[in-house]
Amino acid sequence: MTTPIAKPAPIRRGNRPSQVVGRLRRHGYPIFCAADVLDEIVDYSEENLQRERGGFLLGGLYLDHRVYVEIQHFVPARLTIDRAASMTFTHNTWAALSREAHARFPESILLGWHHTHPGFGIFLSAYDRFIHTHFFSQPWHVAMVVDPCQKELGFFQWSGQQLLDCGFVVVPSAPSQTDT
Ligand SMILES: [Zn+2]
Repeated sequence: MTTPIAKPAPIRRGNRPSQVVGRLRRHGYPIFCAADVLDEIVDYSEENLQRERGGFLLGGLYLDHRVYVEIQHFVPARLTIDRAASMTFTHNTWAALSREAHARFPESILLGWHHTHPGFGIFLSAYDRFIHTHFFSQPWHVAMVVDPCQKELGFFQWSGQQLLDCGFVVVPSAPSQTDT
C-alpha cells in the first residue's frame, strides 16, 4: 500500500462563515469542525514546538442526506504526553483521556484523535496508522495532524482499507450560552 500524499491546509484563525478547506471526498463521511474548537486545537498545538502533543476529538454523527461528523469538543492529553519525545498512547494515557472525555462531554461520542508533527509535515506515520487501525476502526473516525511549525493541518479518514487525507468544513461556532 502506498502512502497517500497529504494536501495540508494552512492554519487560519478568527471567526468566519462556513468554509470548505481542501477537497471534500465524494464518498465517506464529511468532516465539519466548529471554528472555536479548531482554534483551540491550533492554540494547544502551538504551545509546544519541540514535542508531539495530542488529544481526542469529540462531537456527533448527524444525517443530512448523508452521514457527517461534526467535531464540537477537544480534550487534550496534557499530563502524560509532553514527557515523551514523541506521542505514544499508553494504556494509562488512553484511560485518562477516556475518563475525562466522558466526564466533560457525556453527550458526545469519540470521533477521532489529534496529534502534532512539529516541523515534519502532515502525514500519518506507520505508528499513527497502527493507532488509527486499532483504536479508530469505524469508517467515520478521523485523525487530525497539525504541524505547528509549518502552520499546516490536515484530516485523514478511512477510504476502504486506506487512510486518506481529506478536506473538511469549518463551521461558525455556536453562540455562547453563558449569559443566560
Ligand atoms: Zn504522527
